[in-house]
Amino acid sequence: MRRFIAQGANQGFRCDFCGAQVPPLANGSYRNHCPRCLHSRHVDVNPGDRANDCQGMLEPVAVLHSGKKGWVIVHRCQRCGEERRNRAASDDPLMPDDHEALVALASRETAALASREPSGSRGRRRRRPR
Ligand SMILES: [Zn+2]
Ligand SMILES: [Zn+2]
Repeated sequence: MRRFIAQGANQGFRCDFCGAQVPPLANGSYRNHCPRCLHSRHVDVNPGDRANDCQGMLEPVAVLHSGKKGWVIVHRCQRCGEERRNRAASDDPLMPDDHEALVALASRETAALASREPSGSRGRRRRRPR
């Protein structure tokens, strides 16, 4: 395993989910998720420290909008199930978080709340004769 990451390093990474090459944030804060597909990896205990050896894929499951912070993405680790909240980087000049991806995630969540159908029965509506 290569260990060359200095403490607090702000580095780009390659997304394991969609393969996008992601540049570091221009404002110097730590980029922890892919701006294209919003996926991330469970590598941090604290943001940027890469001290977690879970390495699971963090799937974006919801997006919140807070007036002060802007968009906040809720990630759930597909391996250990931990949920994390990460502020979206929608104001980055180089590669901001994809607004459509955020909106799609937000509306997916809303739709899921609106119709409390169990997953798997999507699309076709079954009517049971009584
Ligand atoms: Zn990606
Ligand atoms: Zn995990």
